[in-house]
Amino acid sequence: MKIGFIGLGNMGGPMASNLVEAGHLVTGFDISAPYPEGVSRAESAAACAAGQEAVITMLPNGSILRTVAAEIIPAMDKGAAFIDCSTVDVESARAVATDAAAAGLAPVDAPVSGGVGGATAGTLTFMAGGSEDAFAKAKPLFDIMGQKAVHCGESGAGQAAKICNNMILGITMIGTCEAFALADKLGLDRQKMFDVVSTSSGYSWTMNAYCPAPGVGPQSPADNDYKPGFASDLMLKDLRLSQQAAEAVDADTPMGQRAAELYRIFVEDEDGSGRDFSAMLPRFEKRSRE
Ligand code: NAD
Repeated sequence: MKIGFIGLGNMGGPMASNLVEAGHLVTGFDISAPYPEGVSRAESAAACAAGQEAVITMLPNGSILRTVAAEIIPAMDKGAAFIDCSTVDVESARAVATDAAAAGLAPVDAPVSGGVGGATAGTLTFMAGGSEDAFAKAKPLFDIMGQKAVHCGESGAGQAAKICNNMILGITMIGTCEAFALADKLGLDRQKMFDVVSTSSGYSWTMNAYCPAPGVGPQSPADNDYKPGFASDLMLKDLRLSQQAAEAVDADTPMGQRAAELYRIFVEDEDGSGRDFSAMLPRFEKRSRE
């Protein structure tokens, strides 16, 4: 297939490489990132999108997506798939999909889970929103870049699933970290804490697969001085998106709200920016009850 790929950063770069490796003709555009081997360079986003059977975007946020979409939608061939894999607000995803559908394109919002490791290994999970037809067009590409693609519903449903998942993730990470900090002060050995919780009702992905305590459980960013991994800044972005969505639909999410506030403090007022989101554990270690 002829594919345009816009946004070749930490995630987009390896995703585009996997499409090249699978034999697709990939043309890329990015305002700063290096172009992966085998990806031809376009001079603009519109030039990248013109004449392609599918265009994939992997951009930082919803306002950049809206700007890029306004540029590429008129340039794209009718019937082409417009697959946005960025994590953005549900409103931007729906607005872009409406414009794309009105122009005769097949829009899919398809944010991902799995991080840079998953993007490189081609093992991402895609959560997709859009029509059956649009999802069917995008599915073969999801199968190359990932190991699972769930069609969640109409446009915006992929973003909705992503922010709900990541709200759980942020809340659970904080819970896991504060429980470790409490266990420390109670004199409980961290390995024993892991052995019990990972096989008891407190188990979770953050404890079992991404343990925030160094030297305990499987290898995780905690074992690499909390280098991301998944940066606290991105966790904050996703928690903010969840709270923006909660406000828009009048949903009561007190734990999500508190998690967003804690990550805001960690990123903006403390030393959390650029550190993995599991570095909440050393943060809690240093603190006493207020
Ligand atoms: P990144 O900053 O590394 O990549 C974004 C790229 O977009 C950059 O290379 C930037 O130059 C480019 N860009 C910005 N504006 C542009 C424009 N107008 N035209 C063309 N290119 C432009 O970010 P990333 O880590 O690759 O994340 C991309 C998206 O994926 C984000 O929405 C993020 O929330 C989401 N995501 C990231 C991870 C992760 O672990 N990094 C995991 C899941 C989802």
